[in-house]
Amino acid sequence: MQLLDGKATSAQLKAEIAEKVAEIKAANGKVPHLAAVIVGDDGGSHTYVNNKVRTCEQLGFESTLITLPEECTEEELLQKVDELNKNDDIDGFIVQVPLPAHIDEDKVTEAINPDKDVDGFHPQNLGRMMLGLPTYISATPNGILELLKRNGITTSGKHCVVVGRSNIVGTPMSILMSRNAEPGNCTVTMVHSRTQNMQEICASADILIVAIGKPEFIKADMVKEGAVVIDVGTTRVPDASKPKGFALKGDVDFEDVKDKCSFITPVPGGVGPMTIASLMQNTLLAVERKANR
Ligand code: NAP
Repeated sequence: MQLLDGKATSAQLKAEIAEKVAEIKAANGKVPHLAAVIVGDDGGSHTYVNNKVRTCEQLGFESTLITLPEECTEEELLQKVDELNKNDDIDGFIVQVPLPAHIDEDKVTEAINPDKDVDGFHPQNLGRMMLGLPTYISATPNGILELLKRNGITTSGKHCVVVGRSNIVGTPMSILMSRNAEPGNCTVTMVHSRTQNMQEICASADILIVAIGKPEFIKADMVKEGAVVIDVGTTRVPDASKPKGFALKGDVDFEDVKDKCSFITPVPGGVGPMTIASLMQNTLLAVERKANR
């Protein structure tokens, strides 16, 4: 078994991005500017956003963090989105999900200018991704493609099973893995909570990508000998032995399956760091596209 080290792979990618940022800065003095909006007090969301802001600093980006209270209204958030759409200094921005239940996430996503939607969640960007047109590919699926590519994993002709069908991970991932591209060209099966014979389908995967948010759900009997296993799940599970009182668990039971895999991502340190690097890649792309408009 070989570990698919997202920390090491994202470090390569980030070094390349930092180099391009330095070139842009030397050419015109402007650096990419990413803004992030966070609503409420969810601990996990704050950790993710803080990591994104820290990565901006490391790579020479400018960043702006906008924190809104849990009780912020949908109208107030839409107003903030409108301001960011109109602010020419901001190249791209994200609204961290999940949002509080009283705010319609779809309405907020649709309000973001697709040119600044570096998360790639806007219907226009998802539609372009589906058609194989130039766009921002959502950070997590894009990070997984980079991880496969940069670790020399060939995907053409393989059976890829994607577990989970969310709009931000499972659905785009299944489309990307079936595209006529490398990575891609897989025969894809997507499974979800209504799927029957899950075990049998997962155990037939050459590449198994799991994004369900159910800690250690995938056991050894669901993994084919020699499979590539990508674990997207990140769930906080109470653990008194950890300084923060919780451990981050993936959707795959790592210890149970590791000896059957050819490659496997750890949690943490697998898909997570790739997602952040991929967001930076999209922000850089936003700057390059703006220059060409
Ligand atoms: P989500 O929106 O909650 O969707 C979960 C999906 O899993 C749904 O499609 C659901 O099926 C399916 N599902 C749930 N239980 C299942 C089961 N027992 N068998 C088969 N399918 C099942 O999740 P998400 O936003 O994609 O996130 C999934 C996990 O990835 C979470 O732990 C999240 O924190 C993590 N995540 C990590 C990163 C990263 O960068 N590392 C990025 C994004 C998400 P139905 O549609 O039928 O309900």
